[in-house]
Amino acid sequence: MPRLISDRPVLKMTSELGKVMAAARAREQAGGTVLHLERGEPDFETPAHIVEALAAAARAGETHYPDARGERPLRAALVEKLGRENGIRCEPDDIVVTLGGTHALFLAFQSLLGPGDEVLVLSPHWMAIPKLVALSHGARYRTLPAYLELLEGTLAPGPLADRVRAALTPETRGIYVNSPNNPTGAVLSREALAAIAAVAIERDLWVVSDEAYEHLLFDGQRHYSIASLPDMGERTLSVFTFSKSYAMTGWRVGYVVSPPALRPVMGPLLSFYTTHGVFPAVQSAARAAVLGPQDAVETMRRAYQERRDLLLEGLRGQGEVRVPPPRGAFYAFADVSAARAGRDIWELVNEWLELGVAVLPGTAFGPEYRDWVRISLATRREDVADATRLLREHLAATPRAGARAG
Ligand code: PMP
Repeated sequence: MPRLISDRPVLKMTSELGKVMAAARAREQAGGTVLHLERGEPDFETPAHIVEALAAAARAGETHYPDARGERPLRAALVEKLGRENGIRCEPDDIVVTLGGTHALFLAFQSLLGPGDEVLVLSPHWMAIPKLVALSHGARYRTLPAYLELLEGTLAPGPLADRVRAALTPETRGIYVNSPNNPTGAVLSREALAAIAAVAIERDLWVVSDEAYEHLLFDGQRHYSIASLPDMGERTLSVFTFSKSYAMTGWRVGYVVSPPALRPVMGPLLSFYTTHGVFPAVQSAARAAVLGPQDAVETMRRAYQERRDLLLEGLRGQGEVRVPPPRGAFYAFADVSAARAGRDIWELVNEWLELGVAVLPGTAFGPEYRDWVRISLATRREDVADATRLLREHLAATPRAGARAG
């Protein structure tokens, strides 16, 4: 038999999310119940006017080959949105409509990275990033812890810039930034982004800015796009998606905004030869999302904030699990060092799964996060409440903090 899998390390990479989901499924098949706090999958339905726009467009015959860059009316609507909401000035040809944010990131890294190149990834980072970088000609990445300290207010812009500078190597070509951040819920201030921008300009690096959660902000936080800062438009690729803002994960639609220098590459080459664009009727629906009423976005944002408050309140006053309050996105990154008490993080994840609560180990977001788990709030309010209660009772019945201290 021929060798069927190419001998590339990237094709041997495994998924922690896949492992937890398989374990959860096995438990369900054995008759157990599982509260799914492991996935970033909104429980809301896509707003009705967007679904109707898809149906109308499909009926109207928008079923032929798309423009590989994206349909012009959607790109025109996005130019307006980017100017108004993100402070990004661009033209329709600087935008490529993609199969979600994942595909936008794939195209971004494909255009920027070559063999031997390195990207600096602020961490903890979304778990797809190592794979997306490795798929780009075997490029490498280096992680730099930042978001937890930014969330907790213990890393000022000056020291952040120094830390970024110190992590650069001669191979570093760019920096990947994600605000609001998955998994911590950190939201980068304008000053923090300016500090990163200053280093990028000083060392002539590009920036990939992942803004998948741009609309999910708590406590009056503001979202800033790094591409809107002076001199950053020419070196920043900004990635957006409809998945989270409009509960459209299954639709697979997002977009990437690139500097004009990339016009001949992103649409005509990378989009054309990967997907050849997105179903035109889906693009009309995406346009309806951008141009239509935004009240559903606000309703979902408020619901995520309420669930966050429920989780924080429910876990208050115990010494085993500490949750730095997330300021955006829909996750909580919890410090479980006391509850773990020196055990392997998977032991704790499996113990919680036995209770019926599925979460992801922090190591999915960077090898150094052995003391952390990610709890997703993108699930029903009752599930968040039940999971919090189960965890609270369990932690009270089996305290480990004392054992560890002793
Ligand atoms: N970036 C981040 C940080 C994410 O968490 C996700 C989804 N979990 C994405 C990008 C991509 O989402 P999608 O492909 O559904 O648009």
